Amino acid sequence: AEEANAHRKANRIKVTGTDVPYPFASFSDLLSRFELRSFLKRNLDKYNFNKPTPIQMQAIPILLHKRDLLAIAPTGSGKTLAFVLPMVQDLKAHESAGFRALIISPTRELAQQIYNEVKKLTEGRGMKVCMLTKATAATQAQAPELRQKFDILISTPLRLVHALQQESIDLSNVRHLIMDEADKLFELGFLEQTDEILAACSSPALQKALFSATLPSSIEQLANTVMKDPVRVIIGSKEA
Ligand code: ADP
Ligand code: MG
Repeated sequence: AEEANAHRKANRIKVTGTDVPYPFASFSDLLSRFELRSFLKRNLDKYNFNKPTPIQMQAIPILLHKRDLLAIAPTGSGKTLAFVLPMVQDLKAHESAGFRALIISPTRELAQQIYNEVKKLTEGRGMKVCMLTKATAATQAQAPELRQKFDILISTPLRLVHALQQESIDLSNVRHLIMDEADKLFELGFLEQTDEILAACSSPALQKALFSATLPSSIEQLANTVMKDPVRVIIGSKEA
């Protein structure tokens, strides 16, 4: 525990919550500690993810322990990999079970960046990622059997709520829900969409995580209302 605290201090990682999992220091550590899948290590190496960033050091073990998470770290600090890696580790391979992970992003552009990162991490595994757009939503509405084709869904909140209202999407098997850039989501009025999205993610195994660059009280409140025994991680000098 002392070692973990020293490691946190050296990397300016602040945590609150019960039984917070220890941070890790190198991606190789994940091989023994969490049996990181070899294809993930291979893809990390291939794309030059050589050393974890502070948010990755602490958020990845928390998510791999299936805990709910509120993660605050500056822009450009590697938050995407912090949620994509544990998600892909858990989903393991393609299954015909429909969407098992949902990533909500405030804008189409940011969603596209996440899509690219997911593609890198899942390379060689045949895992299927769907970017929800007008076109892909329409296709799914016409051919519901297509929904089984995908494992991971990435969407903006408005597009997603629209698809839910058209019943062109099924989120009942989702066990990873990521709300990325939560501060921007809120600026765009996300709170109005959360109830509908959370109700559609009806699996009891659902894990929730909020990632954000800043921590306005709206986000803290949402975390406290919708999450179960969450861990809070704050990186750097961004004040709590
Ligand atoms: P954030 O979401 O916190 O703004 P991103 O996840 O978009 O940051 O990451 C910013 C950039 O850093 C991306 O180009 C990403 O590929 C790169 N990156 C993330 N983690 C690492 C790492 N451990 N090593 C090297 N580059 C990384
Ligand atoms: Mg980001």
